Amino acid sequence: MYWCASCGGCEEATVDLAERVLELTNLVDIVFWPVALDFKQEDVEKLPDGSITACLINGGIRVTEHRHMAELLRRKSKIMIAYGACSAWGGVPSLANLYETQELISRVYREVPSLNNPDNVTPQHRVEVDGNQLELPELLPSLLPIDRVIDVDYYVPGCPPTADVTWNAITSLLSGKLPPKGSVIGAADNALCDQCPLNDTKPDKLLIKDLKRPHQVIPDPTKCLLTQGLLCLGPGTRGGCEALCVRARMPCTGCFGPLDRVTDYGAKTASFIASIIDLRNEEALEDAIDKLPDPVGTFYRYTLGASSLGGRVRNDKS
Ligand code: SF4
Ligand code: SF4
Repeated sequence: MYWCASCGGCEEATVDLAERVLELTNLVDIVFWPVALDFKQEDVEKLPDGSITACLINGGIRVTEHRHMAELLRRKSKIMIAYGACSAWGGVPSLANLYETQELISRVYREVPSLNNPDNVTPQHRVEVDGNQLELPELLPSLLPIDRVIDVDYYVPGCPPTADVTWNAITSLLSGKLPPKGSVIGAADNALCDQCPLNDTKPDKLLIKDLKRPHQVIPDPTKCLLTQGLLCLGPGTRGGCEALCVRARMPCTGCFGPLDRVTDYGAKTASFIASIIDLRNEEALEDAIDKLPDPVGTFYRYTLGASSLGGRVRNDKS
């Protein structure tokens, strides 16, 4: 297991396996897992190509070191798995693809209000310290899902994948009964609504008259959140999480990503939501747009890196 541009949540999610971790260690030899075990990169380099049965990478490719490690692990592994939303579709970090690299550096190292960087220090690829040359990995122009860099066999969805989804994926790997290459493993091809305890209260024909944001309303826990005007993306999102957010009265934000056959999750969910908003007149349209202040962050929160938009919006209209 390896992490690239990851928040660490996917690594922590494996801790949620609890005692199943012990069962896992009885079933497999773990040869590389930097967060938990003291194996080094050179240990992996010494392994024969194809000698690791399966490798799970979480996080996307943001710097040259990620690309190098993904290529190395691909060479050493029979089965490569994109584990979690960032690895599969770019995840939240791929929202940074809306900005040029220098804009990102400037924001993070010069503009953030809580920053204390009086000397304007920014990361450099090479620096000299006490006569020694130090090198940092270089930032790539955008964050890429791992399948834009290496061949990927399977995808495990979620931000992060839940313990049950992770265990389902591991057991299907161990059983050897795997779906066709390129499939999602660990979670079935059903929309979240199918698992949601509020699904019975969702009418077949839905028309939202007034969109609401989560901080503006205390929802009725007995009714479908979408019918209450909250933008729940459950109808277009793969299930597998057992509707954890909805059970806590938070609308689904789409972290389990698209169902099979959907090529662009954001476009699909945006068009679905547009089709159920009551746009009687120009005023209603303006109102709906006002209530969606961050459409990219709403519909592409986990998938911008894999979207057909490519992510970048140029401000100079060139
Ligand atoms: S998928 Fe979510 S939990 Fe996993 S690394 Fe990305 S942001 Fe963190
Ligand atoms: S739209 Fe959301 S709240 Fe409504 S049934 Fe689907 S997942 Fe549940």
